[in-house]
Amino acid sequence: MARYTGPVCKLCRREGTKLYLKGERCYSDKCSVAKRAYAPGQHGQGRKKVTEYGIQLREKQKTKRIYGLLEKQFRAYFDKAERQKGIAGENLLQILERRLDNVVYRLGFAGSRNEARQIVRHTHIAVNGRRVNIPSFLVKPGDVVEIREDSRKVPRIKEIMEAAEQKVIPEWLSRDLEGHRGEILRLPIREEIDTPIEEHMIVELYSR
Ligand code: SF4
Repeated sequence: MARYTGPVCKLCRREGTKLYLKGERCYSDKCSVAKRAYAPGQHGQGRKKVTEYGIQLREKQKTKRIYGLLEKQFRAYFDKAERQKGIAGENLLQILERRLDNVVYRLGFAGSRNEARQIVRHTHIAVNGRRVNIPSFLVKPGDVVEIREDSRKVPRIKEIMEAAEQKVIPEWLSRDLEGHRGEILRLPIREEIDTPIEEHMIVELYSR
């Protein structure tokens, strides 16, 4: 599946908020949002009239960027969310959280979702004992996600695992750091998803 490969800090500046796309750098004073808190480009510092549509659009773009998705895949998730029972916006967030790259990131097995995607693509991850290299793979309750035996020696993976001790994981996941694995206990409820998104705006945008 295609993905955005351009400069990621520009995306944060465009959204006017930190999207945490670069791991440790995002928490340092090198962060571009901290240094230049205005949109990129020639007109980035100009005043703009923001319409309701514009606000909804920005919310959708922000969500896509946080989870590293392009429009086609994001729209497909939204359509799936709408077909499910319950609130479409919340269903959408739950689907996004169930992506394997997101789960690897949430477990602290990667510094950012971008890195998690790379770790999955490079076949460092197994689900229920089977190698899975598809970042969009959707996990379900009971699944066990682990770093494969051979990959545990990779220097970057070792570094990540040391740092993972400091990372708090959400309650819908459990983690065994020594075993290099985590389990999906259940699907997340809205209150457990800390991503700063007003999902009802995305629903409103797509309902236009
Ligand atoms: Fe965004 Fe991280 Fe770049 Fe800051 S360092 S602008 S949070 S990607």
